[in-house]
Amino acid sequence: MSEPAAPEPDVLDPYSLDRAGISELLSELGEPGYRADQLHAWLVRGVDDPAEMTDLPAALRERLAARFAPARPDLVAHTVADEGHTHKLLLRFPDGEAIETVLMLYPDRATVCISTQAGCAMGCPFCATGQAGFRRQLTAGEVVRQVVVADAALRSGVIGEEHLPDGAPSRVTNVVFMGMGEPLANLPATLATVRWLHDPAGFNLSARSITVSTVGLVPGIAKLAELGLPVTLAVSLHAATDGLRDDLVPVNRQHPLAEVEQAMADYRRVTNRRVSIEWCLIGEVNDDALQADRLGAIARRLRAHVNVIPMNPTPGVRWKEPTPQRVRTFIAGVERRGATVTLRDTRGRDADAACGQLLASYPLGAGTRLPAAMGAAERIDAATALPTLPATTEAGP
Ligand code: SAH
Ligand code: SF4
Repeated sequence: MSEPAAPEPDVLDPYSLDRAGISELLSELGEPGYRADQLHAWLVRGVDDPAEMTDLPAALRERLAARFAPARPDLVAHTVADEGHTHKLLLRFPDGEAIETVLMLYPDRATVCISTQAGCAMGCPFCATGQAGFRRQLTAGEVVRQVVVADAALRSGVIGEEHLPDGAPSRVTNVVFMGMGEPLANLPATLATVRWLHDPAGFNLSARSITVSTVGLVPGIAKLAELGLPVTLAVSLHAATDGLRDDLVPVNRQHPLAEVEQAMADYRRVTNRRVSIEWCLIGEVNDDALQADRLGAIARRLRAHVNVIPMNPTPGVRWKEPTPQRVRTFIAGVERRGATVTLRDTRGRDADAACGQLLASYPLGAGTRLPAAMGAAERIDAATALPTLPATTEAGP
């Protein structure tokens, strides 16, 4: 009688493992402990192809290659806006799902805006992503790789020198979770990504240069605090009374304002990090004196910074951004309470303006249309304008 076949070992995306998971995998493969450090050192540099891990023995590289099923995206399109300061990268994963990642260049920093879900289930009526609905969660590997690809684009010169403002860094310095999806509705991937980005041996981003934007999922905010890293928390409030917020942010019915405010206060206390409030300002909807006053009071109590983002027009949504006069009056109303406010521009340059609206139409294969907004921006066909991006950044350790 023949032996029953041994079960096939699971294949996995290496970025779905944390440090302990990497050690476990290598000890399962009978390798000494220091091999885990070597593998980790490659991964944090964005190298996920065992064939490139030159300090590992060839036999181990082969065994790892058999275990790894990396979720490497193809760069399908690269769109440039705002005189080269904003780069939208359309990435397609092996299953055909596509998402956008935005790289924003400033004189002193390079910020990547990443997505955590394909689509979003939260249904905020002013948000293009919300209108499109939820398609699927992204894995940790798919989220981390957005940073890897953006970083590789900067380093490899794909984003040409002519686009780099004076003094702009040649690598990613900041990451904002403000692309498609609700990060705290995909906690495993969000938390794993924060850990990878913060890892001093690799991406080495300080916790404060990582911003997680949430619609206000209270249990997720507590989980983020438990991570013990002072990541910047931005809460998309958009309304300062429950009646209005129930409409603008439907999840407010599960987690009303008082609960969200308490979660923000707790986050601040635990992490000792100032929280931000995002406010998408919609003409004649949430730009009146009452909302300004209540928002000012909440921000003051939390000592939170308010970012006001005039609404970007979204196809199918009748609401519009407010008149400049109403914007000024609204901001003055918030400041009257002693809160600090920044008005973000809507040209697509700004992190928040460029994100949250990843919706227009990129035709994809088989008639699928990916939501992603670019307006009148110049479009570059990736096939002609870009070399295929390596899955990795540069020569490793
Ligand atoms: N789901 C998370 C993060 C992604 S949305 C959240 O809601 O916070 C990122 C930001 O873009 C949010 O503050 C969101 O309110 C904002 N946004 C969405 N649609 C917008 C629009 N049409 N105009 C301006 N900002 C918008
Ligand atoms: Fe989702 Fe954020 Fe858009 Fe709301 S604003 S639908 S939470 S992506």
